[in-house]
Amino acid sequence: MGPMPFAYLRPTSLPEAIALLAQDGGRARPLAGGTDLLVQLRAERYQLDRVVDIKAIPELAELRYDPVDGLTLGAAVPCYRIYEDPAILAHYPGLVDAVSILGGVAIQGRATVGGNLCNASPSADVTPVLAVMGAICMISGPLGSRTVAVAEFCTAPGQTSLDNGELLVSIQVPAPAPNSGAAYLRFTPRREMDIAVAGAAAWVALADDQRTIAEARLALAAVGPTMILVDHLSEALVGTDGGEAALEAAARRARDSARPITDMRGSASQRRHLAGVLAKRVLQVAIERARQAFPPND
Ligand SMILES: Cc1cc2nc3c(=O)[nH]c(=O)nc-3n(C[C@H](O)[C@H](O)[C@H](O)COP(=O)(O)OP(=O)(O)OC[C@H]3O[C@@H](n4cnc5c(N)ncnc54)[C@H](O)[C@@H]3O)c2cc1C
Repeated sequence: MGPMPFAYLRPTSLPEAIALLAQDGGRARPLAGGTDLLVQLRAERYQLDRVVDIKAIPELAELRYDPVDGLTLGAAVPCYRIYEDPAILAHYPGLVDAVSILGGVAIQGRATVGGNLCNASPSADVTPVLAVMGAICMISGPLGSRTVAVAEFCTAPGQTSLDNGELLVSIQVPAPAPNSGAAYLRFTPRREMDIAVAGAAAWVALADDQRTIAEARLALAAVGPTMILVDHLSEALVGTDGGEAALEAAARRARDSARPITDMRGSASQRRHLAGVLAKRVLQVAIERARQAFPPND
């Protein structure tokens, strides 16, 4: 039969968009790049009265780096604008890792980080790296504005903490701490246009000696119903120089934190194994980047 007809609307202000989304609770959805939504509409996942295109709202199209406040990443900014931005290339290579492997070049021309978060797929590539960098979701809705940590934004497959009529406006990524580094890696059988069998994002900050790990965070993709922040990671890494024994201890914690399932992309045991392998490798990249990092005010 195909999807039922729906109205296409393109508001140019945030209040207008929120009003359109809040009407008749649940029968409207925001449209960013549409690379998930259009597929889902064809599969008749939703019965909608209206699709609200959010790309003409200035707050959602904003992309701004400030050495003190960090990065304001509008929810409707497509991936290509992110990896073409010199400040982002210099200060957020971990974010660049994730947006430049998402889909392929054509998908990156449309797909947004906001859509990646709001679609809440367990295998979303951008969510874990934002979470380890301590990014915050800025949300607006009929009852006002609020914030939620990216790490807590997705609650189940396809579910977020957004209420009816609420819109993700932007993601705020803190300015990189001195001597810190982040990275994202995933495993896919094909080089592109594939979904992660497992993924891992790491963030580390070094002590003043620029060798000892002072803080570390690790998040896993596609090995649980949502992204997973690895428990007790600090005990494995903090105070060490990130040598083999410390990395192996971190990999063990990644395997222990994983809650994988078996599906057509991979078995649960392969995914648990990959969580450990990717954890080790991504931590090595993050540590390497932290050692080369320059103070954020440069
Ligand atoms: C061929 C192909 C390859 C892909 N490869 C990858 C991949 O490698 N890695 C990966 O992670 N994903 C991949 N995807 C999935 C998809 O491209 C990403 O999840 C993308 O980031 C979605 O962004 P979008 O702007 O297209 O979202 P949309 O499709 O516009 O929206 C996604 C969902 O979020 C909601 N939404 C969007 N923006 C907001 C907002 N600001 N506030 C509230 N709700 C909102 C929409 O209503 C919809 O439910 C692929 C998709 C395709 C078709």
